[in-house]
Amino acid sequence: MPLDAGDLKRILSFSRKDSIPYYILGNGSNLLISDRGVDGIVIKLDGLFKHFDFRKNLFIAGGGIELAVLRREAYKKGLSGLEFTVGIPGTLGGAIKMNAGADSFDNIGNLIKRVEIMDKRGMVKWLSHKEVDFGYRCTSIEKGSIILKAELKLKSASSVSIKKRTDSIWRKRKRSQPIREKSAGSIFKNPRCHCEGQSPEAISAGILIEKAGLKGKSCGKAYISPIHANFIVNRGGAKASDVTKLIKVAQREVFNQFGIKLELEIEIW
Ligand SMILES: Cc1cc2nc3c(=O)[nH]c(=O)nc-3n(C[C@H](O)[C@H](O)[C@H](O)COP(=O)(O)OP(=O)(O)OC[C@H]3O[C@@H](n4cnc5c(N)ncnc54)[C@H](O)[C@@H]3O)c2cc1C
Repeated sequence: MPLDAGDLKRILSFSRKDSIPYYILGNGSNLLISDRGVDGIVIKLDGLFKHFDFRKNLFIAGGGIELAVLRREAYKKGLSGLEFTVGIPGTLGGAIKMNAGADSFDNIGNLIKRVEIMDKRGMVKWLSHKEVDFGYRCTSIEKGSIILKAELKLKSASSVSIKKRTDSIWRKRKRSQPIREKSAGSIFKNPRCHCEGQSPEAISAGILIEKAGLKGKSCGKAYISPIHANFIVNRGGAKASDVTKLIKVAQREVFNQFGIKLELEIEIW
C-alpha cells in the first residue's frame, strides 16, 4: 500500500528486479479473483493518493479515492458531473481505467481534463484527455501503468439539483439491480448489434441471459440474480469457480440460442 510516488516507484523497481508480476487493485469491485489467489504483488494506493483539492471547477483527486468520497466533496462545493457514479463502488483509478459509466452517455472519461500516470519503469507523466481513448468500459491507458491522479472538469450547480439528480439515479438502480447483495456489478459488456445500414446498437446482456432462461440459476453459493440477470450474486461462501461456471453457462446458452458472444466486463485475476 504505497503512500506516495516514491514508495510506488520502489515497489515497481523491486517487481522488475525480481521479475515478480504486479496487479493494481482499486476497490476490487470489478474483479473476480481466483480461489488460488494471486501470484504476485498486489498494489493498493493509499496515503497521498487519497488526497484531493479544488481549483475553481477543477477537481484534482488521487487515484486511490473512492468515488463516493469524490461525489460527496463535489456536492459540498456545489459542483455537478459525478452524480452518475452513485452506486458504483469503485475508486477514481479503477473508474478511469474501466471508463466507468451509467447509461450510454455518462462516463468518467467525459469529465477528465488530464490524468497523471506512472509507467512500468516508474516514469511519471501527464496524459491530456486527447491522449487517452475512452471506450466502452475500457481506456487506452497501458496495462501496468498506474493512475496516480486526475483533473476532472465539473460544472457549478445548485445543491438541490445535484441531489435531485443523484437521488433519481439511485432510485433507478435500487429498482433494477441487486444492490444490497454481493456482486461484481455487470459481468458482461452489452454486445453491439451490427445491423446493415444502421449504427451499432447496444443489446442488454442481462436481457439476453434472462431470455435464455437463466435468471436464478445457481452453482454452489453463487446465482444469477433474478433482479438483473447480468449480475452474479454471492449468497455467502461462493467460490470464484462457482462464478466462473455460471459465466460459462451464460456464454454458452446465449451463443447457442442467439448466436451472440458475451464478452466479460469484469476482469479475472
Ligand atoms: C454493485 C455494483 C455496481 C456497479 N455498477 C457499475 C456501473 O454502473 N457502471 C460501471 O461502469 N461499473 C459498475 N460497476 C463495476 C465497478 O464498480 C467499476 O468498474 C469501478 O470503476 C471499478 O473500480 P475499482 O476501484 O473497484 O477497480 P478494481 O475492480 O479494483 O479494478 C478494475 C481495473 O482497474 C485497474 N485499476 C484500479 N485502480 C487503478 C489505478 N489507480 N491505476 C491503474 N489501474 C487501476 C485494475 O488493475 C483493474 O484492471 C459496479 C460494481 C458493483 C459491485
